[in-house]
Amino acid sequence: MELTPEQRAIRQTVRSFAREEIRPTAREADETETFPEEVWDGLAELGLTALTVPEEYGGLDVDGLTYAIANEEVAYGQLAVATALSVHCLATSCIATFGSDEQKERWLPEMSDGRPIGAFALSEPHAGSNPAEMSTVARPEGDEYVVDGTKQWITNGERCDVVILFAKTEADDPGTITQFVVPKDADGLSVGKKEEKLGLRASDTTTLVFEDVRIPESNRLTPVGGGLSAALSILTGGRVGIAAQSVGLAQSALDLAVDYAGEREQFGQPIAEFQAIRHKLADMHARTQAGRVLTYDAARQLDGAEPPALAASTAKYVASEAAVDVTNEAVQIHGGYGYTKDFDVERLYRDAKITTIYEGTSEIQKKIISRELLG
Ligand SMILES: Cc1cc2nc3c(=O)[nH]c(=O)nc-3n(C[C@H](O)[C@H](O)[C@H](O)COP(=O)(O)OP(=O)(O)OC[C@H]3O[C@@H](n4cnc5c(N)ncnc54)[C@H](O)[C@@H]3O)c2cc1C
Repeated sequence: MELTPEQRAIRQTVRSFAREEIRPTAREADETETFPEEVWDGLAELGLTALTVPEEYGGLDVDGLTYAIANEEVAYGQLAVATALSVHCLATSCIATFGSDEQKERWLPEMSDGRPIGAFALSEPHAGSNPAEMSTVARPEGDEYVVDGTKQWITNGERCDVVILFAKTEADDPGTITQFVVPKDADGLSVGKKEEKLGLRASDTTTLVFEDVRIPESNRLTPVGGGLSAALSILTGGRVGIAAQSVGLAQSALDLAVDYAGEREQFGQPIAEFQAIRHKLADMHARTQAGRVLTYDAARQLDGAEPPALAASTAKYVASEAAVDVTNEAVQIHGGYGYTKDFDVERLYRDAKITTIYEGTSEIQKKIISRELLG
């Protein structure tokens, strides 16, 4: 697909950063379950924490395809970093799309610079695929809301400074789900369990516990009851970002597999000479490229008037399942070495699985695709 000179320049800049600054930190960050903060500062210096912020608030306000390309390239370096960045961008998008001028002025210029770091708190222990079943309540009291509840699986949960919160203003009425912006240091807001995960181990995933947290009316982002549709429309763009990350991850595994197949010798020749291995590489390329084309198509549609639900879910479904299969084959091509922590494909294989789960599982993407087809 043809890219503009600006899109090519951003791809080149992010690609260099991902390969020179992100990838070398990835193994240690995974092993120690520590987010590489110096990498975050580098992303901020490049302006990537401002991707989805309007220019008047210090942002880059990039088009959909540029957003996808940046996600793809960062994920080539490490998925955990790309995940943290895309969640920060979800948070800035919520404020930019739904916030008042005062709210934008309060948060966006600083968030563009990388800190405060944003989190997006929709999921709960008993409400994942169906967020309408959430039980967190923001009870109106005078000109404040009093929030009680627990949010689960929150990316940047520990690192973040500001939380985009979804809560019902009436306990039994999903029609009252509303979006708020909450400073992390609000009284009564605490970080709970940090999850120990299969992959994506450098990204912190925690529960956030709200106990009698008082937030002023001025922190409400949407009208009362406007929170769920706001979340779903923002997540359409988010899914294109995850699709792009899946493509970057798959490309990274494919490149490692190509290199290894050319170097490793068995039966007196490089394993790349065996047709079985060549066919694997061909399939890996075809799956990655199919995911990329669908992702770029969906990304272009993000610039239209309506959220492209069909294209975004199709891209996320195809690209994330491809990432799982491509990383699996990359391990296979590495043989026993691929099963060890000495080789990066082991981490890529563990990381890939999350792309079929967060921001809507593959089953939910297929539910959306079929709904769009059937009406
Ligand atoms: C590492 C990580 C980071 C995350 N980050 C965030 C974050 O920052 N913010 C946030 O809000 N959430 C986050 N999540 C939550 C994530 O979006 C949810 O885990 C996901 O939406 C699935 O919800 P669940 O885990 O409750 O699974 P469930 O909804 O319980 O689903 C269990 C299984 O049932 C299937 N299923 C459910 N409903 C249907 C249906 N209607 N039709 C067919 N199959 C169905 C699912 O596909 C799945 O296979 C994160 C999760 C993880 C693991």
